[in-house]
Amino acid sequence: MLNPFENDERRAFQDSVRKFMETEINPYVDEWDEAGGYPHEVNEKVCALGVFGFDIPEEYGGLGFDDMHMRKAVGLEMGRSSAGGVMASVGARSIMLKPLTELANDEIKARALPDLLSGKKGGALGITEPGGGSDVANIKTVAHKDSDEWVLNGQKMFITGGMQASYFVIAARTGKDGMGGISLFFVDADTPGFTRTPIERKMGWWASDTATLYFDDCRVSADNLMGEENKGFYAIMNNFNYERFLMAAQMTGMSMRLFDECVAYAQDRETFGDKLISHQVIRHKLADMSARIDAMDAYLNQVAEIVNRGENALAEISKLKFYCSTNLEENASAAMQIMGGAGYLRGNAVERIYREVKVQAIGGGSEEIMRDLSVRLMGI
Ligand SMILES: Cc1cc2nc3c(=O)[nH]c(=O)nc-3n(C[C@H](O)[C@H](O)[C@H](O)COP(=O)(O)OP(=O)(O)OC[C@H]3O[C@@H](n4cnc5c(N)ncnc54)[C@H](O)[C@@H]3O)c2cc1C
Repeated sequence: MLNPFENDERRAFQDSVRKFMETEINPYVDEWDEAGGYPHEVNEKVCALGVFGFDIPEEYGGLGFDDMHMRKAVGLEMGRSSAGGVMASVGARSIMLKPLTELANDEIKARALPDLLSGKKGGALGITEPGGGSDVANIKTVAHKDSDEWVLNGQKMFITGGMQASYFVIAARTGKDGMGGISLFFVDADTPGFTRTPIERKMGWWASDTATLYFDDCRVSADNLMGEENKGFYAIMNNFNYERFLMAAQMTGMSMRLFDECVAYAQDRETFGDKLISHQVIRHKLADMSARIDAMDAYLNQVAEIVNRGENALAEISKLKFYCSTNLEENASAAMQIMGGAGYLRGNAVERIYREVKVQAIGGGSEEIMRDLSVRLMGI
């Protein structure tokens, strides 16, 4: 569909990301998925595209500018590659870069940002706990002040990139119950008192590493407090918006890939003496998929433009996320049906995306929480 916000620069950027995915990622997706991991240098290659550098000063290795349309392009091409696990793991740094850039002190930024942006070292964000992820205001991990140190105790669960990461942004309770008692901390992986174990055998994202993190009297310097004490909740919520937008773009890219796979298959496959594509039932499924994709794409463009203009799009981003995940679920189901038994076999993009729908519908704010939040943000 025509994108009214496209220009030469944005098109060239998106083309470069797509070309990279097609040559450096797509041929290996099945192999890396089955292996449950990918070579470390993939982090560096993906990072070299500049896809995580938005809104980060050039002195730290960032791009020095922001553009939501380009952020959208990154998500689309990551989704279209169908390499959900690889992109989740490499991209884990992206969901901790914003608080790090905005809230960490200069020494930490100078130490961590160049390594994270070059892909040399990994980063992860720890919000969710064994006791729950939706109710962020209720987190139980605690940090108490002991002279010039903070002492962290607790656990974080489902942390993407958590086994590879060298640097973490961790939410912990420093004050009263509820949202007004949470702070963010920068934690080095080699800090005494910090350990981690892998979470294996996931439904999807096989190539990504997911970890449980443990903090047992884990002492960090007072300087590792990021931003104001007890103001972490608001930073977490602000950060979520970029994660959710990126996920929405990925879901749109995943849907585009599903559509392309189905069209190619239906043009080749014959049933009852005719090409599958000639059956009206199949054509209608494709029409529905295409209309859903156009709507997701247009919604992304609209939200990107609102944010680029510096206006508030918080309710829209919440709606965008659940709108894209519910449409992705429909698209994945339709695609699997069009592919028939062939879609059910491991090692193809439709099967992989089908398995990865639910993590998009749950992670980073579930459909239920997004609906709830959006009506609240609309003042209803
Ligand atoms: C593969 C994977 C990777 C992840 N990566 C990260 C990461 O890197 N960092 C991180 O911090 N977290 C991560 N998460 C955690 C993710 O963000 C949480 O799973 C998510 O926020 C939901 O939390 P929960 O699983 O604890 O579900 P719960 O909060 O226990 O909720 C269970 C179900 O109940 C619904 N529900 C909850 N409250 C309500 C309500 N009030 N009304 C109606 N329905 C409700 C939820 O929508 C959900 O469907 C990851 C999760 C997965 C699966």
